Amino acid sequence: MTSAIRCETHDEVPFSREAVWAVLSDTEWVLSALGLPPGKYGFQPLPEGGSRVTGRAKFHGLAARWEELPFEWRAPDFYRGRRLFSNGPLKEGSLEVELRQSGTGQTRIVIRCELVPRGFWGKLLAKHLVRAVAQRRIEWIIAQVRGFLRGEKKTLWPESAVHPVAEELFRAKLAELTAAGQPADLVGRLAEFLRQSPDTELSLIQPLAVARVWKRDQWEVLRLFLRAAKCGLLELRWRVLCPNCRASRPPPIASLSQVPRAGLCAVCRAGFEVQFDRSLELSFAVNPAVRPLEHREFSLAGPGSQRHVLSQTLLGAGQRKAWMLPELTWPLRLRSPQVKQPVNLRPEDAPTQLFQPVIVCELEHFLVRYEYGATRDYAVQVLNPNAFPVLLALEEMEWSSELLTAARATNWQEFRDLFPAEVVSSSEPMPAGCQAVVFTSLRGCTALYESMGDAAGHAVVQNHFRVLAEAVRAHHGAVVKTMGDGLMAVFSQVQEGLAAVGQMHERLPEANPNPSLSARLWLKSSLHAGPCLAVNADGSLDFVGATVNLAARMVECCQGGDLAVSDEVYQQAATREFVARVGKAAEARELKMGGLEAAQKVWRVNLVA
Ligand SMILES: [Zn+2]
Repeated sequence: MTSAIRCETHDEVPFSREAVWAVLSDTEWVLSALGLPPGKYGFQPLPEGGSRVTGRAKFHGLAARWEELPFEWRAPDFYRGRRLFSNGPLKEGSLEVELRQSGTGQTRIVIRCELVPRGFWGKLLAKHLVRAVAQRRIEWIIAQVRGFLRGEKKTLWPESAVHPVAEELFRAKLAELTAAGQPADLVGRLAEFLRQSPDTELSLIQPLAVARVWKRDQWEVLRLFLRAAKCGLLELRWRVLCPNCRASRPPPIASLSQVPRAGLCAVCRAGFEVQFDRSLELSFAVNPAVRPLEHREFSLAGPGSQRHVLSQTLLGAGQRKAWMLPELTWPLRLRSPQVKQPVNLRPEDAPTQLFQPVIVCELEHFLVRYEYGATRDYAVQVLNPNAFPVLLALEEMEWSSELLTAARATNWQEFRDLFPAEVVSSSEPMPAGCQAVVFTSLRGCTALYESMGDAAGHAVVQNHFRVLAEAVRAHHGAVVKTMGDGLMAVFSQVQEGLAAVGQMHERLPEANPNPSLSARLWLKSSLHAGPCLAVNADGSLDFVGATVNLAARMVECCQGGDLAVSDEVYQQAATREFVARVGKAAEARELKMGGLEAAQKVWRVNLVA
């Protein structure tokens, strides 16, 4: 038996564990900084669920092949990764990073590397790698973290991974962006970002995360990125995300029309329906003509690439062990590729002084039972009764608020104006999740034309559409279509739809600068939210379904200067708040829908005194 060769480095930094974790949990960076070569990965589906992940790479001129065991971690305490080599001078390699609180705002970083050599040459290589290389690189990594968190270093990645931009083209595109009306300081920020960021950060750019780092408004940054994509500085990248692990393995798709209706996750081995408001993300990449990128992968599914997973652990066949949970202050989801049904753990399920939960990983579901006995900290017992290993992940149920879903992006007028051809394929509708749908209609159009004449009346109606469209755009919605003197708009959130409707009514008088009594405009409006289907209607993105039908019919409940909302929408806190703030009075109405047995309860809210 060959013994392992280890190295361990400690250092103290004046930052919280959370801040250090945010940087050091990026295993792509850490492994590259350790000097590991990028690898090529393969997935073999396992009959019990999940996949066996294999990697291969050239290392010091030698071809290495390995099995990559899943990372284990608990944020922000520790993570460890392990590789089992099938050939070459090493049998095994592992990395462990531990963060200990050592005073207020002080963190002790402990990084351990361990190599198990194969034979004499392996022993020599392992000693050299660990003593001469790893030690030095770990010290450098900690220095980088310290410099980065102090704000002295703009990027963590080694300079070697930064390909230069094609200078002339780059400058021309930036000038185009400024000419398109984008603020000079933001264009400058983007230029610096595209020039200095390492390749790995530019093949997947998430605008809402960038906005957080830049401390700028999300929509302002998204507008900049959309404009940059329009002028060819960036490219649109649609990514299909697995609803389980929220990762995306297939290559990104350049056009919405090419997005498939169904996805298959290579890691989880689970098929799923692609959803417009959840499993489809709009991200950006730099245009390769502006800056070529080299795609490199150093690890798979480390904690940094799955920030929604707070803790992940691997249980061997038949194993029972204590698993420390993060504090359960709100419900978290426990899931495993080897167990069919996930389970939600609520704060009341947490271990107590008298009882500790035992979670049994059965094939169909998790069985939670309680054993009498004091427990230490937040440990639960996990038991795998199966003859194969089980991977457990404890995760946040909410998706990241920094995920720019296809629904959110295409629901913004700015996107639709710049990329009118970006629509779902015409063959089949796509589930669009919950959308807030607004319909409007003008009362008194006939009287308007009669009193003002056709030309002036028509001009006022067109003006009114402009006022309405401005309100929709200002609240991050999109005008789906206009019909006669009415329009249909969609929003990702009820609050946004309500705010837009409020602005429509408030600004409507601007559409007719010289109103006489007979030519006063009255707007009827309705809002309903619920599941819709996204469809391609003659080349533009439209929504259909019962939600849309009800919203369209609800306008009939209006008299003018009012808003009709469905009972579901009325019961929401956002609507109550809106009604209390801008509504003059609300009354319940019954709306008979053809074909439906029961009448729908609709609330009519007066918005104009
Ligand atoms: Zn997955």
